[in-house]
Amino acid sequence: MEDYAIRLENAKEVLQNAEAILIGAGAGLSTAAGLEYSGESFQRNYPEFIQKYHFTDLYTASFYNFPTQEEKWAFWARLIQQNRFNEKPLELYQKLYHLVKAKEYFVITTNVDGQFEKVGFPPEKLFLVQGDYSLLQCEEGCHNKTYYNENLVKRWLKETKDGRIPTELVPKCPVCGKNMDMNLRKDANFVQDEHWYKQAEKYEAFLQKYQGKNLVLLEIGVGFNTPSIIRFPFENMVYHNVKTILIRINKDYPFVSEEIRNKAISFQEDVSSMIEDLSL
Ligand SMILES: [Zn+2]
Repeated sequence: MEDYAIRLENAKEVLQNAEAILIGAGAGLSTAAGLEYSGESFQRNYPEFIQKYHFTDLYTASFYNFPTQEEKWAFWARLIQQNRFNEKPLELYQKLYHLVKAKEYFVITTNVDGQFEKVGFPPEKLFLVQGDYSLLQCEEGCHNKTYYNENLVKRWLKETKDGRIPTELVPKCPVCGKNMDMNLRKDANFVQDEHWYKQAEKYEAFLQKYQGKNLVLLEIGVGFNTPSIIRFPFENMVYHNVKTILIRINKDYPFVSEEIRNKAISFQEDVSSMIEDLSL
C-alpha cells in the first residue's frame, strides 16, 4: 500500500469530485464506533446472562434458543436497549454523516443497530438489509408486518425479575397468536415488510441513476459474513463501470483484487481517525 498521506489525499479528491456517494457499511463500522459484542464491556453488561447461559459474546448469544419466552425477552431487552436505544449518538457515525450530508448519497448496511438514523441520516436514504433491533415480527413470518418495540423494551427492562419478564408481557403475533421474534435475518422466516421493499427499490433506483456516472463507493467494515450483500456487488460495480471508484476501509480485510486495483483506494488504518482525516 502507498503511504497513508497519499491515499488520504486521493480519497479526499475522489470524494470531492463525486457526483454521488454510496456508503456500504458492515459490522466493522459499529465495532469501531464503540458497540462491542464481546470482551470487557460484554462481561460488564451481561454478567447474569453469562453466568446462567455461559454466553461468550453477543453475536452467538443472539442465536441462543432460550428455554422460555420470559427469559428470552429479558435478555433481548438488555441488548436492544444498549445497542439500539443507547442514549448517546455514536461519534464515528456523526463524523460520517458530516462527511456526506452535503452530497447526493445513499446507505446500504447489514448493521441492525439503527445508528445511522440516530445521528441524522434520513430513513429514506437507508436500506437496512438484515433487519433492525427496534422491530419485532411473527416468529413464523405468517404476515409481512413488523412492530416497533421501544415502549415494550422499556417495560421489559422495568419489570424483569430474576432474569424473566412477566408472562403477560410476552409478545404474541396479532394474526396467528404464536410467539414473536426479532426482525433479524437468521432464517427463511425473516419478514421483509413494506418499508423494506420500498428501500430496496430506492437502492436500485439510486444505482440506476448513477450508473456510468462519477459514483464513489465508500465501503466501511464489511467482512466476509455476508459478502454477497455489499462487498461483492461493490467490487462488481467498480469492475463494470469505468467511472466508479471504491474506497475500502477495513481493519481486517483491506485487500483489493488486481482487476480493480487502479480504481480502488484501500485503508487498513483506524476507521475513526481516518474518517476524521477525510473531513478536514
Ligand atoms: Zn403470526
